[in-house]
Amino acid sequence: MSSSSSSSRSHTGRQTTGIPTRCWCGANLTTFGAQTKENLFRRFYRCEIGLKRKTEHHLFKWVDEAIVDEINMVDAKHSQLKEDVDSFKIYTSRRLEIQAKHIEQTLHQLKILMDAKTDSCCTQDSPAFTTEDTLASPTVASTAYNPLTNIAVAAIALGTMAWIYARLTN
Ligand SMILES: [Zn+2]
Repeated sequence: MSSSSSSSRSHTGRQTTGIPTRCWCGANLTTFGAQTKENLFRRFYRCEIGLKRKTEHHLFKWVDEAIVDEINMVDAKHSQLKEDVDSFKIYTSRRLEIQAKHIEQTLHQLKILMDAKTDSCCTQDSPAFTTEDTLASPTVASTAYNPLTNIAVAAIALGTMAWIYARLTN
C-alpha cells in the first residue's frame, strides 16, 4: 500500500489522498502555478480563500503528487478486484466440480435404476430396485440397457456444464 506516500499535510495534521475535490473550508479548489524559484510553474491545488489569506491553513497539494496518489489508489483497487475475481473463479470451479460429480452419480444411479426396471419387466415381482442398497449397488447387470438413453442424458448434462463453463470463463 502506498496510499499516503505523497499525501499533502497541513500544519494541523490533516491530509488528503488522491486528487482533492474540495478544500477543508468547503470552497472549491483551483489549480495555480507556483511562483517560487525551486517550484516555478509547478501546479498545485488551492482554494481562492487560501490563496488570499496566507496565514490560514487551507488545503495545499501539488497536482503531480495528487495524480501519482490517484494512480496508486486505482492500482490498489484494481489488484483487489483481480483477487476477488480469482477467488470467485476458484470457488465456482470447485462448486462445478462437486456438481459434476453429483451429476455423474445421479446418472450412474439412473442407469442402475433403468437396468433394474428393464430386468423387472421381464422377470415379474422383483422388488429389488426399490431398496437403497440396490440403488447404490454396481453389481446389477446392465445387459438389457438401452445405450441411446444413456448417451442422450449424458449429452444434456455435458452440454449444460459446457454452457456454465463458457459463461464463467468469458
Ligand atoms: Zn479553503
